[in-house]
Amino acid sequence: MKSDLAKRVRGDFPLLRTSIDGRRIVYLDSAATSLKPQPVIDAICRYYTEVGANIHRGKHFLSEQASDDYEEARTRVARFTGFLSSEVVFTANTTASLNMVASGLGLTGDDVVLVPFDAHHSAMLPWRRAAGVRYIPVSDTGVADLDAYAALLRARPAVVVLTHCSNVSGVYAPVERMAAMAKEAGAVTVVDAAQSAGHRRVGGENVDFLAFSAHKMLGPTGVGVLCGRHELLRRLAPPFLGGGVVDWVDTERYDVRKVPHALEAGTPPIAGVYGLAAAIDYLQAIGFDELGEHDRELAGAMVEETLARPRLRLLGPADGTDRAAIASFAIDGVHNLKEIAKILSDSYGVLCRTGHMCAQPFVDRFTDDEVLRVSGYLYNDREDLDVLFSALDSVLDFVRGRR
Ligand code: PMP
Repeated sequence: MKSDLAKRVRGDFPLLRTSIDGRRIVYLDSAATSLKPQPVIDAICRYYTEVGANIHRGKHFLSEQASDDYEEARTRVARFTGFLSSEVVFTANTTASLNMVASGLGLTGDDVVLVPFDAHHSAMLPWRRAAGVRYIPVSDTGVADLDAYAALLRARPAVVVLTHCSNVSGVYAPVERMAAMAKEAGAVTVVDAAQSAGHRRVGGENVDFLAFSAHKMLGPTGVGVLCGRHELLRRLAPPFLGGGVVDWVDTERYDVRKVPHALEAGTPPIAGVYGLAAAIDYLQAIGFDELGEHDRELAGAMVEETLARPRLRLLGPADGTDRAAIASFAIDGVHNLKEIAKILSDSYGVLCRTGHMCAQPFVDRFTDDEVLRVSGYLYNDREDLDVLFSALDSVLDFVRGRR
């Protein structure tokens, strides 16, 4: 790989100093959650050691500091996504953000919502409960079928849900084009950017709602983001009522605050928001040009190494399709992938994932088995892939020899 990003940043990630039996760990599970750099950990510690107070409640100086930092973080997220500060809602995660939109728009079973066939369950099930779902089909290589999508738009869907990057195949959908097509058909557009937000620019003028999680982009768990165009955000029914969302209450009536506060009931994940702001700073200091180039090289090497092994059946296209550093594959003749992942972890220090990746309809279309997923980020390089693939070769030779 030409990119030396991993070498430059690795020292920032304390977890990468972990070793198992003297071997350094190779973390290839960033699509599940990324590791956190020291500045993010420091920002969370700073909140607890120097600020500590609740927001928007008291007038004492620590509460004012916490409120200012929290609102400043909202502004940072707004700049990061291209939305306005008043259009940024802090939630618990992508799942919570998507549920808030699906249940808050007042849809009924008569409304049509288009959902990508490769959607994560979190971008699929909330809509199935709220409306009539039709799937945007994928081709035999697992890429969105744009002709079928254009035909589905003629049914005038109320909402079109798009997955920016599949957490299984790593394929990036042409979201800008698809969102523009949806807008032309009069639909509200919702983009699941869980896998892309820390990797490339997200949003765009045709995206009405954008959802992502801090924990997949170097930030902490427990914080998510929902960005929404102001007039649409105002239409959402607040999922929770209580403290923080009302201006005035008597025994009969109450006045709900303006968005985004109307959608942030109770004490929010304040420390997490400090961490998210630090994660954005960290990513922006590197820049999406370099992050994107690094991802592309890593993705290319992953696909090449997978295809070089006939036993591995890659899910998704084998050509130069725009994709993230995520590769999922089934393994011929091996059904207990969990055992393989356990050996990779405990004997080789290689951490990756198996299962249906919360996208079971998509995985089931391509294989009867589960898949093994490897996913990389800025701290991974070619050396990590060499460790993975040589460990995998040894484990598979061993398993075959045992039969
Ligand atoms: N969408 C996609 C594409 C994802 O990869 C994930 C996480 N695996 C989610 C949604 C849900 O994210 P969270 O668990 O943070 O709510």
